[in-house]
Amino acid sequence: MNAEILCVGTELLLGDIVNTNAAYLSRELAALGIGCYYQSVVGDNAQRLRESVSLAFSRADMVITTGGLGPTYDDITKEVVAEYFGLEMELHQPSLDHIHDIFTKIGRPCTKNNEKQAYLPKGATVLDNERGTAPGIAIEAGGKVAVMLPGPPSEMKAMFEGKVKPFLQAKTDRVLRSHTIHLFGVGESSVESQLHDAMVERTNPTIAPYAKMGEVQLRVTASAKDEAEAETLIQPVIDEITALFPDNVYGVDVENLQTALARRLFEKEMTIAIAESCTGGMIAARLTEIPGISKSLAGGVVSYSDESKMKLLGVSEDTLSAHGAVSPETALEMAKGVKEKLGVQVGLSVTGIAGPDGGTPEKPVGLCYIACVGSWGEEVSEMRLSRGMRDEREFIRNYTCLNAMNMALKLI
Ligand code: ATP
Ligand code: MG
Repeated sequence: MNAEILCVGTELLLGDIVNTNAAYLSRELAALGIGCYYQSVVGDNAQRLRESVSLAFSRADMVITTGGLGPTYDDITKEVVAEYFGLEMELHQPSLDHIHDIFTKIGRPCTKNNEKQAYLPKGATVLDNERGTAPGIAIEAGGKVAVMLPGPPSEMKAMFEGKVKPFLQAKTDRVLRSHTIHLFGVGESSVESQLHDAMVERTNPTIAPYAKMGEVQLRVTASAKDEAEAETLIQPVIDEITALFPDNVYGVDVENLQTALARRLFEKEMTIAIAESCTGGMIAARLTEIPGISKSLAGGVVSYSDESKMKLLGVSEDTLSAHGAVSPETALEMAKGVKEKLGVQVGLSVTGIAGPDGGTPEKPVGLCYIACVGSWGEEVSEMRLSRGMRDEREFIRNYTCLNAMNMALKLI
């Protein structure tokens, strides 16, 4: 089966909103092993929508639309698609009840145009909307499938995940399984070039790369007769990729670096404390996103000035005057200081120049030191994170934070 994505909305054509629905659906279809060769955008205009729907069905078995299911006069998707299938619109009482319920709950009268949302193509499958009023719709006829989803991304995703995915999975007797490998410290193009042959030649499992802020993810998807067979197909690929990038793979099916670090701390039953200068508490903040981190995270110190590095962490005045605040020596004393003061097993620290000012030829903007002390001894690493672009401050701070978590993860 192959599918085509058709997003409806004049706002999309005007560039007022970014078409995140298409990006989401493309990824999901790829993961389900459903080919998607075209996606298009059309405004809220009946004639042009008719043409787009016909064109899409001329080349795809299934067309997934988003948008234009709402209550207003310009919401015309279901009428146009119903017309394509030659179906009349009829009142769907449960949808009307659902719409009335929502209006009762929010204490507002339900206007006539809202009731329009309960008129659906006769015989269509109704996809309940748990997050809004407009139901989604699926129509199957003459070997073609239309799936119509609401425009608001949260409603669209919930409906796809809860209703459409099971529907699509039921259409095939194969199961699809995916695992996502997370890599840090290597660029997408470098991963792609090293994996190129494997990615191009492999059809089962497939390997799909995604670049995300500071990391690369590889989604490995297998199609098989059952879950066990899918896992058997996927595992060697995970092993192969891990062997190819031993320094970069930080986890499989793990949300992000802070989650991976927290899990490692839990596994090893270890405690940690953080001393931060240029990241101003970002590392501690990210770790506290993880429920249950109080078992492992004792606390953090934001020591921005030299004085606070001395007072709160016991960094020596001599070290600061001889080497400066941004130096391996200071980073190390910060990590040792926070470890000792908070009585934990791991001390992690960062100090750096986030810019835009404060750089010198010897110590340019983007120079950062990370130190991590623990049972393995003392480790300091130097990073030069500037790419010579403007407004790099957030980039530098974020990368320092990610690198620090990655270093701690490795050592622990
Ligand atoms: P509503 O009931 O809110 O009118 P609808 O199904 O009619 O929903 P639209 O009116 O087309 O959908 O879009 C509603 C809102 O959803 C848009 O203002 C926009 O914020 C968001 N939206 C619509 N389409 C997309 C898209 N393709 N990608 C991202 N956001 C979208
Ligand atoms: Mg609308």
